[in-house]
Amino acid sequence: MVRAIVLLGVLATGMAAGMASAADLQVLHGFSVEYGEVGQNALKSMQPSLERQMEIVERSGVPPATLDFFRSIPVVMVKKLNTGFGRAGMKDGRQIVELVAARLPDDRPILLHELLHAYHGLKLGPTPMIRDSYQQAVQKGFYRQYAKAHFLENPREYFAVIGSIYLYGSKIDQPPFDCRLPAQYQPEFIAFLSEQFGPHPCQ
Ligand SMILES: [Zn+2]
Repeated sequence: MVRAIVLLGVLATGMAAGMASAADLQVLHGFSVEYGEVGQNALKSMQPSLERQMEIVERSGVPPATLDFFRSIPVVMVKKLNTGFGRAGMKDGRQIVELVAARLPDDRPILLHELLHAYHGLKLGPTPMIRDSYQQAVQKGFYRQYAKAHFLENPREYFAVIGSIYLYGSKIDQPPFDCRLPAQYQPEFIAFLSEQFGPHPCQ
């Protein structure tokens, strides 16, 4: 009886928080995509580029449990964002990833980057290795030519950008672009990523 009451409470909370109704939900590549804000036509027209983003995540070589975790994060399609194509954050008590319902570039790991933010927030939490490696990156001048770059803004972006370089396996569109400088100057951080996501080529 107690359990039933708790369950009802959870359901009621979920409804009050505006969870997507089944009609506004589509499962793609095992990801739950909520498209209520943009409508089904908007989703349909950008779906190939969304699926390409999911394929990048699937090919990232993370352990199966991590891929399951990534797929557990709702992908909420929105009309626009002031942060580019994607954003990770908490909404109505849920960790979600928002993506703009527009043609997403095929050669950028946008969804992977946002899922790494979710991983950091839910799986890792405050992590001395990330904090210290970020501070080292800023203070020691390893990336002097990229001092204003996104990945040096804060530890979150540092983890998501270096992590997406590590997992994507190709050059990304923003500094430090590839594994060369992180592998040369911050091998301890690369070893940490290897512990988290398994060994990947990174030089
Ligand atoms: Zn980010």
